[in-house]
Amino acid sequence: MPDFRMVLGTGNAKKKAELQRLLAPYPQIQLTSLADYPDALEVEETGSTFAENAELKATVQARHLNRWVLAEDSGISVDALDGAPGIYSARFSGEQATDTSNNELLLEKITGVPYEKRTAFYTCHMALSDPHGVIHIRCEDQCHGRILTAGRGSGGFGYDPLFEIPEYHATFGELGSSVKSVLSHRARANRKFVPLLLALMESLKIQ
Ligand code: IMP
Repeated sequence: MPDFRMVLGTGNAKKKAELQRLLAPYPQIQLTSLADYPDALEVEETGSTFAENAELKATVQARHLNRWVLAEDSGISVDALDGAPGIYSARFSGEQATDTSNNELLLEKITGVPYEKRTAFYTCHMALSDPHGVIHIRCEDQCHGRILTAGRGSGGFGYDPLFEIPEYHATFGELGSSVKSVLSHRARANRKFVPLLLALMESLKIQ
């Protein structure tokens, strides 16, 4: 099977590292990143769903770079906040948001909510665009957990220190990258993505 080259269309270094780790077992999928393209765009996330934002990031960047681009949009939805911050997870606490300020705001907003009602889930939507801006693969998955009352652990990024996997009694901050790369929303979406990409590569060879 011929090699397939695609650009990971994310400017988030932690996300990029997780995707590289998830795709590392498939050497026939050759990855480059936006860092390899100095003229890469910063695509505005104007969609109203994870799917719309992932597709925007994939198609706009793909046409601009004239490359295949895999983009993903992700975030956390907290049941006690009616699904917020959702697609606004990165900028929950404003334009200058940091992981720390986002986590502080989240804790503040659910102060007093009892443990059993602190349920939340991460979503990851992946979209693969060809160089013409045509989406060939879309897939999405979730990872369910609970928001603790204080951060634990320093692994992962974003909301990970607050996000407990109830079966493990530990947060993604504590569990480390090898566990996260099996259980996370990104890992689950990737398990759907890879077989679809391998089939697409096979069909491209036939054409
Ligand atoms: P995006 O770059 O618009 O997709 O925003 C993703 C945001 O969602 C991140 O900045 C984090 O706040 C949050 N997020 C997504 N995936 C994760 C994860 O795996 N761990 C922690 N936070 C995440």
